[in-house]
Amino acid sequence: MTDAAASSAPVLARLTVLAGPTAVGKGTVVTELRRRYPDLFVSISATTRKPRPGEIDGVHYHFVSEEEFDSLVASGQMLEWALVHGVHRYGTPRGPVQHQLDAGRPALLEIDLAGARQVRRAMPQARLVFLAPPSWDELVRRLAGRDTEDPEEQERRLVTARTELAAADEFDHVVVNDTVASATDELARLMGLGS
Ligand code: 5GP
Repeated sequence: MTDAAASSAPVLARLTVLAGPTAVGKGTVVTELRRRYPDLFVSISATTRKPRPGEIDGVHYHFVSEEEFDSLVASGQMLEWALVHGVHRYGTPRGPVQHQLDAGRPALLEIDLAGARQVRRAMPQARLVFLAPPSWDELVRRLAGRDTEDPEEQERRLVTARTELAAADEFDHVVVNDTVASATDELARLMGLGS
């Protein structure tokens, strides 16, 4: 290992990527993690999808136009990006994440499988965590219960979820989201966050 690689290793090791199928509860687990660790940096993605009721620009996402997204990609400002569920684009702005890592602070990304694979290639030392549902039936139940997508969109998301579940073994760790508390405990432990 070169000196440069050796000195960057601990910094990159602080980047954690949380991925998992639709409706598995990634958002809920991340919300609980932030409640416990208010100073933890969680990347705010840019997306071309429209805000849902209650979502705030710059807090939940940076809601951008197709043209703005194009220009973020073209200027190399995206660490990764993907077309999710075949409809909207989502991506991680590189600058804020790099800033955290350069300062030696942990950073968390909550992204889809395609994005996680890009991060793995760009930063092989990132810690990839897969959040899995207790069962397929439970995942279907959670998606239906969420009531934020119409049946057509739910069907599309379940098709994606099947492929995503099959990719769990590409990840460094699998955390089963049995309860929000236990999944959050496990994620915090993997990230080395103090209790
Ligand atoms: P939602 O529309 O429900 O907020 O998010 C849909 C999906 O987009 C989720 O599976 C989420 O993980 C993924 N996603 C959110 N932000 C990003 C991102 O920055 N990059 C990638 N690749 N996926 C993202």
